[in-house]
Amino acid sequence: MKQNIDWANLGFGYIKTPYRFVANFKNGEWEKGSLIEDDTVKISECAGVLQYAQTCFEGLKAYTTEDNRIVCFRPNLNAQRMADSCKRLEMPVFPEEEFINAVVDTIKANADFVPPYGFGATLYIRPYMFGSNPVIGVKPAEEYQFRIFTTPVGPYFKGGIKPLTIRVPDFDRAAPHGTGHIKAGLNYAMSLHAIVDAHNKGYDENMYLDPATRTKVEETGGANFIFITKDNVVVTPKSSSILPSVTRRSLLYVAKHYLGLETQEREVLFEEVKEFKECALCGTAAVLSPVGKIVNHDIQILLPSGMERMGEVTKQLYDTLLGIQLGKINAPEGWLKEII
Ligand SMILES: *Cc1c(COP(=O)(O)O)cnc(C)c1O
Repeated sequence: MKQNIDWANLGFGYIKTPYRFVANFKNGEWEKGSLIEDDTVKISECAGVLQYAQTCFEGLKAYTTEDNRIVCFRPNLNAQRMADSCKRLEMPVFPEEEFINAVVDTIKANADFVPPYGFGATLYIRPYMFGSNPVIGVKPAEEYQFRIFTTPVGPYFKGGIKPLTIRVPDFDRAAPHGTGHIKAGLNYAMSLHAIVDAHNKGYDENMYLDPATRTKVEETGGANFIFITKDNVVVTPKSSSILPSVTRRSLLYVAKHYLGLETQEREVLFEEVKEFKECALCGTAAVLSPVGKIVNHDIQILLPSGMERMGEVTKQLYDTLLGIQLGKINAPEGWLKEII
């Protein structure tokens, strides 16, 4: 039976659901793994994750479509990306097919917490892995735990979408040849100071530039950028230190194949940002968040789309991708993974 939750007023916080998936890696192999009810983790005080931050994670959503199916969006891409993260952090890969099965099983077990259609709410799914055995000399752990929990979340923007004001910080997010392209907890730990500082100064987000030259746009702490040119070309920054967002890759496909727009994945100079007519952040949580204003020290850029609404092309992209996710528009083969 569906939970008695005020779906319309759900926030974006953690709410415990009954089941989580857990699998342990020991003696060089993964055990089968299972769904359990205990929401606590018990590990050594010297666990690799606690001492040297050996951990990575994923994030995706399950939701109810217009025709009342429960689906999740492109979990195969999260499985692949987590495999890439694990390899870069010297962690064992949880096999991609088993990752997808575990995501499906965890959603199924918590199906009563998947918000019904029509509230803009979803069940957020958080797969993650960490080094669990004692590690004091700096080296990879030998034992790991892979877990998936779920938590119902409300729409990212309560009370409608409002364009963001963002700034270019004096901090960097990811070093060239570093870990910017993987979903490692360490990337987030070091971004916390920059985001708290941004909020204290009245900005919603940080627009990070490439640390080597500080001339090219990279991304924010947790979302990629898309820009729209005056000729309606959809442009997204290309860099080896940007996290490959599933939402961004999906939006580029939608732009090209559903809206017939030209798309470009290329280096984007900060210098040319003032020429764009629209700018937005993209990621699983909000899908697309319009940006109204960008501040880089004494330079202020006001996007022509303004501070009241989403730009026209951004809105088309948003409506189309959301329509695909909710089963109102035919999805490309393999995008919606059916749960129930
Ligand atoms: C997770 C994440 C994104 C968004 O990726 P999605 O797959 O679209 O949710 C973007 N940037 C960073 C740094 C991230 O960690």
